[in-house]
Amino acid sequence: MKTTLLLGAGLLLPLAAAQAADAAIPATPDQIAALHLDWIDSSADPARDFFQFANGSWLKSNPIPAAYSSWGVDQILSQQNQDFIHELLQSAAQDSAAAPGSEERKIGDFYASGMDEDAIEKAGAAPLAPELRRIEALQQRVDLTAELAHLQMIGVDALFGIGQMQDFKDSTKVIGVAMQGGLGLPDRDYYLKADAKFAKIRAAYLQHLGRSFALLGDSPATAAREARTVMTLETRLARASMPVEEQRDPHAIYHPMNRDALHQAAPAIDWLGYFQAVGHPELQQINLAMPQFFAAASKEMLNAPLADWRVYLRWHLVEAYSQYLSRAFVDESFRLTQVLRGNKELLPRWRRVANAEDHALGFAVGHLYVQKKFPPEAKQQVLDILHGIRAALKQDIAGLPWMSEATRAKALDKLALIEERIGYPDAWRDYGALAVDRSPYALNMMRANAFENSRELDKIGKPVDRNDWDMTPQEVNAYYDPSMNNINFPAGILQPPYFDPKATLAVNYGAIGAVIGHEITHGFDDEGSQFDGHGNLVNWWTEVDTKRFQSGVDCIADQFSQYTVDGGLHVKGKLVTGEAIADLGGLLLALRAFEASPGAAGAPVIGGYTPQQQLFISYGHSWADVYRPELARELATANPHPLPIFRVNGTLANIAAFQQAFKVPQDSPLARKDACVIW
Ligand SMILES: [Zn+2]
Repeated sequence: MKTTLLLGAGLLLPLAAAQAADAAIPATPDQIAALHLDWIDSSADPARDFFQFANGSWLKSNPIPAAYSSWGVDQILSQQNQDFIHELLQSAAQDSAAAPGSEERKIGDFYASGMDEDAIEKAGAAPLAPELRRIEALQQRVDLTAELAHLQMIGVDALFGIGQMQDFKDSTKVIGVAMQGGLGLPDRDYYLKADAKFAKIRAAYLQHLGRSFALLGDSPATAAREARTVMTLETRLARASMPVEEQRDPHAIYHPMNRDALHQAAPAIDWLGYFQAVGHPELQQINLAMPQFFAAASKEMLNAPLADWRVYLRWHLVEAYSQYLSRAFVDESFRLTQVLRGNKELLPRWRRVANAEDHALGFAVGHLYVQKKFPPEAKQQVLDILHGIRAALKQDIAGLPWMSEATRAKALDKLALIEERIGYPDAWRDYGALAVDRSPYALNMMRANAFENSRELDKIGKPVDRNDWDMTPQEVNAYYDPSMNNINFPAGILQPPYFDPKATLAVNYGAIGAVIGHEITHGFDDEGSQFDGHGNLVNWWTEVDTKRFQSGVDCIADQFSQYTVDGGLHVKGKLVTGEAIADLGGLLLALRAFEASPGAAGAPVIGGYTPQQQLFISYGHSWADVYRPELARELATANPHPLPIFRVNGTLANIAAFQQAFKVPQDSPLARKDACVIW
């Protein structure tokens, strides 16, 4: 399971299926079409740059549209889902017969309020006026805690965040958790690193802050001073923030504290008042995820002038709500997006509103979506692939030569307990308590944020809701949850090119099969493997097995640390190990499950490509996706997912079966000498 990444050789895969292909029946036109041979760049050498080989022609004819910061098959599918949803939103907005309070009415009213550009323009910053007055009225330090709580509940990133989680050590319990936050730039590195590009971004951010205060009516001199105030305070918070790669260690972010301990850790926060202000005065203890950050935040709450706090809070209010206000605010917000992500123009308004609605009413929209968009047959075929992959992993764990019997038994237990969820929740989310109307758009969003935050916090102290999903049905994505020990595949991703009922098995295993394998492998990556089958953070590994596994993790971290983006910025190897392990394990599982499937013998050759080659091409296609350099920088700095090009070439460089299938020479970067071997 987990695996390990033992160095060296081993684990060559049999070529039986490729040989059987000689006797295969010919492919159907649908099967041929589903392999997308026209995406291939035949001038590229698959043995040197497989990403370019698999996707070069596609990339050439699919440049990143001006309104996007990345573009790929996932975005195109998301866009198609959204085009479909667009019609649902429009007809809901026009349906005057929908009962007041019904979900359809809320969906329609939200959309109508977001599309009413005239009303939004006329209102300017007025929808924020009551909140701005509250901040202005903050004249005593003792009231700061309650104002932070209030702003956090309406979706403002005010200093830190509050939420709920399953207790790492007792997954049957739901506890509260407070996390570091309050930075306007994407990560602490943006404030602290000397590199010239980060320095340039800081200068642009300072300008953006000044213009934002000017939009709120402050004089240029005042606005410039306020911008520096925010920058100074956020830089101090950045310094105290836990680096993102350290947050991957569950022990590092698990510090349950009772009220006394919370007071000791962050005395400036009036914790009882805080719990009251977020609607949960009964809370006796929470997980203070990053104690060092809270100590520093508390110090600032005591020492920074209250006037500075008012400036800081005004900024984060406007940061959260600019995109729902008039054009001047939208444009200013977008200027920062351009700096951070490289987008050239705004998305059309209706797409921005549909995105907002995904946050506000995502499961109500998803309910309508799956009624029309998710055929039950699709679910069965995906389940067949999933079960093939589970079986492959079971066999793999059973046969791992390096794993002790004690660890093996626990790993098999955990695998057996992984819950699989496909498509959408069994019961739909209740939006009854959320008020939506056609009045100011920003206020619909504010109520939606408050509703969602209350919904989350109301889980604390109650039995775990195993029906809730972290992703909406229409999302093109998938996830593993270590505390739930479940794998989740929303309906949105169960479509071409990830899953195509008309494609060959090899093509489906290379795409959705590798996605499924990826999520299952997360249960056994360097983070997931610290949780047992019941979702508890307990060590079920023998010491020797842990060491072997860790050497594999280190191998992956070293490999990915060598990759760079945006003019030499190095990928953080330790940040991406979980995802890179899941990619490697996932693709190997997909390959093994395919080879063990009844359809493998006699699978057709297409365009001269054997079934194994088709599987790898399909995997490459599933990552046809490019990023603007600005976004690549953000990803490399703050996101645990490597860039798609590394997810293809970096993963394949560790796979002997790929090297055999494409006759990769020893000196190629796709044939690592000390390959990291997982599983
Ligand atoms: Zn993942």
